[in-house]
Amino acid sequence: MSPAPAYRCACTASPLAQTQPPGLGRRGFLGALALAGCATPPSAEGAWRVDVHHHISPPAWVAALKKSKLDSPPVNDWTPQRSLDDMDRAGVRTALTSPTLPAVGFLPAAEAAAVARAANEYARSLAQRHPGRFGCFALLPMPHVDATLAEIGYALDVLKCDGVALMTSYDGKFLGDPAFAPVMDELHRRKATAYTHPNEPACCRNLSTGVPSVIIEYGTDTTRSIASLIFSGTASRCRDIQFIFSHAGGTVTALTERFNTQAVALPQFKAAGFGADSVNAALRQFHYDTAQTANPIAMGALRAMVPLSQIVFGTDYPYRSALEHVRGLASIFSPAELAQIGRGNAQRLMPGLPG
Ligand SMILES: [Zn+2]
Repeated sequence: MSPAPAYRCACTASPLAQTQPPGLGRRGFLGALALAGCATPPSAEGAWRVDVHHHISPPAWVAALKKSKLDSPPVNDWTPQRSLDDMDRAGVRTALTSPTLPAVGFLPAAEAAAVARAANEYARSLAQRHPGRFGCFALLPMPHVDATLAEIGYALDVLKCDGVALMTSYDGKFLGDPAFAPVMDELHRRKATAYTHPNEPACCRNLSTGVPSVIIEYGTDTTRSIASLIFSGTASRCRDIQFIFSHAGGTVTALTERFNTQAVALPQFKAAGFGADSVNAALRQFHYDTAQTANPIAMGALRAMVPLSQIVFGTDYPYRSALEHVRGLASIFSPAELAQIGRGNAQRLMPGLPG
């Protein structure tokens, strides 16, 4: 076997940084160099990560937000170049794009469908203009089920999007709600990747916690939706949906004991077949991104809950930068683990990823 190629890092003489780890590949190795303190290449050259949580602002969607006075920065001043600059600073090769909340849930069905269609066509054209740099999670006109079923077909069959983007709740209904069963059944039939993004539920705005509701509610809404999917039976009925939950699953790691002891003991769940390990098993079938959770506390809990194979790199750009996440994760995981989180797991989940 020929010796591993030696690369010299301009800013450190660390032996770790001079040897390409086996199995990491050139892209992974360049990423590891960046993590070891070397400068990240200032362009797409050498970039290898996949960011599954990267927000864009398609013009038709921004216009609809403005009309309803729901727009605010940084949604208003997003440009493709700003995305590319953030990606290039952190070695992100491909960003899987989605608009952030409120998606199009504030619009009546026909308008929601039209704005979602225009937003998805924009996302696909963005990917075509920048080959390899952008993928697309399709914006769906939820909670309008018929329009959503039509858009799933168009987005996945015609636009060839990499998956769909769902909010964790719509009008107080979570993803396991019977009203959304046709959507879940269709995503299951298609073995689709379903990226989910937290919402700020109407029930819990203006609570007197002393901090803006989003600080607590995004994580909590994610957990509510996970519980809804599991305890409604949707997660087991629709096992082929590849769910990605944002922000390390919200607060779910703190509630696993209650789910696994108190909840499964309730008569209705016992009768439905829930047992000692059924919640853990369901939690392990989902994927979770690292957005706003690239710290030892959140990642430690997540890593204890699921195998490394279920963790994917996400940044919540433009609310946070990719570089912050690269730096945060570098203090927690080994280069081989970072390669898996940074690209390998997303690639396994979506083999057709660009780049
Ligand atoms: Zn986000």
